[in-house]
Amino acid sequence: MITTILWDVDGTLLDFKAAEKAAVRNLFEEFGLGECTDEMIARYSFINEIWWQRLERNEITKPEVLNGRFRQFFGEYGIDPDLAEKFNQRYQLALGDTIVYRDDSYEIVKSLKGKVKQYVVSNGTVIAQTKKLKASGFDELMDGIFLSEEIGCEKPNIGFFGPVFETIEEKRRSQIVIVGDSLTSDIRGGMNAGIVTCWYDPEKKEIPEGYRIDHVIADLHEIYSLI
Ligand SMILES: [Mg+2]
Repeated sequence: MITTILWDVDGTLLDFKAAEKAAVRNLFEEFGLGECTDEMIARYSFINEIWWQRLERNEITKPEVLNGRFRQFFGEYGIDPDLAEKFNQRYQLALGDTIVYRDDSYEIVKSLKGKVKQYVVSNGTVIAQTKKLKASGFDELMDGIFLSEEIGCEKPNIGFFGPVFETIEEKRRSQIVIVGDSLTSDIRGGMNAGIVTCWYDPEKKEIPEGYRIDHVIADLHEIYSLI
């Protein structure tokens, strides 16, 4: 029986792509960089994912990700790469300006409050996630929030989960589930931590090999069947 849910935020509880698109678009205007087309946003989004995956593999540091992705993106479109740092600083806050819930995530988390323990487990930055979790109301619903930047280690590394297990009440790993959209950080992290894994796959992608995925859900409402 699951007593504890570890929720990923970006792309799971919240629609990250919507927030990302609005933030980049608005900042292009603010910085006087002209129009940021859908094609450019898609390219940025792709570049961003590659940089985050390098962080998950511990190849680079988070500041390198945050600035490097924009340096690469700007470089490809003839924009001064030196703008990256300033742009990223504004971007961290701008990400929290657009809150779009995935499925009925707010209502789902709210309805589970008191029935199971719920925690946020996120690799997002403290600045962005703090603003986002407050604006979305999740900060009041959760029993705790674990951010990699505060822990000093990213999902999927086991080092991320040590402080989580020390803090949460449930000590039986088989009663704890991690729910997330990322195979490389959430599912791999759950495997490393020896807890139950639940892949949120709304696009119904093919189930890949090499992962222990205990549950697959295409809609967050399916979480009730695990409890
Ligand atoms: Mg995610």
